[in-house]
Amino acid sequence: MVKYIFITGGVLSSVGKGIVTSSVGKMLQVRGYDVTAIKVDPYVNVDAGTMNPYIHGEVFVTEDGGETDLDLGWYERFLNINLPKENNITTGQVYQSVIDRERRGDFLGRCVQIIPHVTNEIKRRIRVVSEKSGVDIVLTECGGTVGDIEGLPFLEAIRQMRLEEGYDNTLYIHVALVPILEVTGEMKTKPLQHSVNELRRIGIQPDIIVARCKEMITEEVIRKIALFGTIPEEAVFCSYTVPSIYRVPLILDEQGMGEYICRRLNLPHSKPLWEDWRMFVEKIENPRYTVRIALVGKYAGLTDSYVSMNEALRHGGAECGARISIDYIEAEEFEENPDKINTLKEYDGIFVPYGFGPRGTEGKIKAINFARENDIPFLGICYGFQLAIVEFARNVCNLKGANSTEIEQEPAHPVIDLMPEQREITYKGATMRLGAHKVIIREGTLAHRLYGSTEIYERHRHRWEVNPKYWEILQEHGAVFSGMSPDHRRIEIFELPEKYFFFASQFHGEFKSRPGKPEPEYYGFVKACLDRKLGKPRPEF
Ligand code: GLN
Repeated sequence: MVKYIFITGGVLSSVGKGIVTSSVGKMLQVRGYDVTAIKVDPYVNVDAGTMNPYIHGEVFVTEDGGETDLDLGWYERFLNINLPKENNITTGQVYQSVIDRERRGDFLGRCVQIIPHVTNEIKRRIRVVSEKSGVDIVLTECGGTVGDIEGLPFLEAIRQMRLEEGYDNTLYIHVALVPILEVTGEMKTKPLQHSVNELRRIGIQPDIIVARCKEMITEEVIRKIALFGTIPEEAVFCSYTVPSIYRVPLILDEQGMGEYICRRLNLPHSKPLWEDWRMFVEKIENPRYTVRIALVGKYAGLTDSYVSMNEALRHGGAECGARISIDYIEAEEFEENPDKINTLKEYDGIFVPYGFGPRGTEGKIKAINFARENDIPFLGICYGFQLAIVEFARNVCNLKGANSTEIEQEPAHPVIDLMPEQREITYKGATMRLGAHKVIIREGTLAHRLYGSTEIYERHRHRWEVNPKYWEILQEHGAVFSGMSPDHRRIEIFELPEKYFFFASQFHGEFKSRPGKPEPEYYGFVKACLDRKLGKPRPEF
């Protein structure tokens, strides 16, 4: 029998449900169980692909090309598994299929309703994931906060799942904030009590409550939460603030959460094997050095816009014993105040991430130029890769007015141009070049030394590419295209071998980076930043 664990959140969003979900998965995984995790997003968008990262955080890209909520990234990193796009269920998808079926006449004249038709579709989707993945335990995290109107059909669906799957096979975990009053230092449980009541009103009695608090909650607070939540004290846990997010599963398990879940779900007891995970946590929390990175982007005000990139840099840092300190710099600042570019001298590395549209691009190009001319380690991802080509075309190949047609309609030199297959596309949803594609690596290059292979699979999300008409002139001036698509139609990696470290990729390595297994381009970049800072010769890898 498959076990289903449902995670809801209370009081406010961003309370760390995604991390608790990932941590619960980890606790079960280290006990030998196969797990998968689903994120349910009550918004009406069909997927996260059309959402602004500045408001909602990064769009995570799965191996099969899904554009999903960033929590799938946390599940993948914590559980070291690749998830398919079906693991992100949205209201948009649910309604789309219910309405399609209605139009086909599948409901045979019946009135189509939220209960049972929409809720049935939600349950069907959760069970499809369970069947396809073949795991022992399916975790389902409900986005938003209990009490949101749009979340109601999802909560109703998971409520019904207990009736259908049985008490021993279902478990409800509620995660809610316990604030500490600044003036008195008191831990307040009232908001949590209210959100538990809200959940009960819908018909769900939580089995476990996780209090999110700055500090470990006191015995008295545990007693209070248990009493008002109608659960035993041993079912109350606390996710308190720790030096690194990767420590959360350890602190929850120390409180007995893994054991409690197994007991409650009748899962045979087995000793948790934490060694590898703990080793990584110790490594990331005890660095010898600090590497300072300037991230020059467009969504600098919200670090969640770059969460996979942040983590990929940290994974790389952990392997070289370095703490990663990132300054998020709005690229436009270099346009408004040209002298500001010199502040980039203070950094060990310059990083230009993904992006869309014209805003801030001239500032990013200035930053890339600064990195190249001052030989500061540089990593460019996707838009960062494309803009590195623009910079090189303008300033090395002397192609005045070189640009991307995403930025300027008819530049003098369209070195970055829309991919031919994109020209007819007008529909915005899920139409970019998405997901994992093979990349052929040229031997004897930095890319080959980093990846140690001539064939890799990396994830993509783009519409533009390097214009083949300019390949020759770029190469004549020293650009090395060390990664190509298998049909040799598309450039995937651009490097400058004479530089200390200058590397850019059309693909997004960050989506495949895992704790203890950093993605090579990120590892290479961080290692180069550190070695240069320590005055060492260029790393050979
Ligand atoms: N805007 C660029 C494109 O669509 C880059 C996309 C990205 O950085 N993910 O090709």
